[in-house]
Amino acid sequence: MRKMSDVMTNVMQNLQKHTQMESTSNYCTHTTLVFGKEVTKRHQMIMFDGKEVCPVCEIERDTEEFEKREAYRIKDAEKRAEYLILESKSLFKDKTLINSGFKNYETKDIEEITNKKKAIKAVEQYRAGEVFNTFLQGDPGVGKSHLAMSIIRTMNETDNQDRSCLFIDIDEMLSKVRDSFNNRESIYTEQYFIQLLSRVDFLVLDDLGAETGSTNTEKTASDYTMRILKGIADSRQDKPTIFTSNLNREALGRMYDAKTVSRLLRNTYVIKFEDTTDKRIKNIEF
Ligand SMILES: [Zn+2]
Repeated sequence: MRKMSDVMTNVMQNLQKHTQMESTSNYCTHTTLVFGKEVTKRHQMIMFDGKEVCPVCEIERDTEEFEKREAYRIKDAEKRAEYLILESKSLFKDKTLINSGFKNYETKDIEEITNKKKAIKAVEQYRAGEVFNTFLQGDPGVGKSHLAMSIIRTMNETDNQDRSCLFIDIDEMLSKVRDSFNNRESIYTEQYFIQLLSRVDFLVLDDLGAETGSTNTEKTASDYTMRILKGIADSRQDKPTIFTSNLNREALGRMYDAKTVSRLLRNTYVIKFEDTTDKRIKNIEF
């Protein structure tokens, strides 16, 4: 910066000569450190727009403002990129989930009303800065994924919109990882997902325990699944994760290993569906 302002000083001095900018008899004293030594320079003040100013001070102020504006611009772009992760990096099996939010979560029975309230409560706590996991548990089709998506959508849209959120359907993720074993071009490696799922502020892991090959019949499947889950359990100790599963904690413990599951589901707020039936099956009435 110092060099730049020296150059600009010369420019100003030349400009002054040519345009005969009116110098005054006053000087502005600048002290800088050069190799640890204080060096004092005096700059003649000039009349500019009817005001007496020091040209060097003016340039330094402009440079500072420019740098500040640039820093804001970069920060805005970074914030925007974080905000867009939910839309650009999420993996859905059911694509309609992209549009799910509290607004279009229909409540017909007491349990649905209670669970929607519980999910909203979780959002309030998250927005207040609390760190905990949320576990939505119940039969398929009761609306667990919809509520999970509603939670992170709200986290994404509110406040400064600078939280990174991600929705991952576990089966979709694992099938991409499996594909990457035979496809060297694929970016969707085990490492890619561990990094992505570790870095986001809010993560939904949808349908834990429902993935293909999860019954231990496929040895490699359970190996890389375990590596990914362990990686996430390690890296997300201080970040909220929202899980959904058809299985309860005990069944998940039997399926993976009890230690990893208890680390994944530690400090967990549970939202349970016991009475709600499959919302995707519509009763036809005549
Ligand atoms: Zn000055």
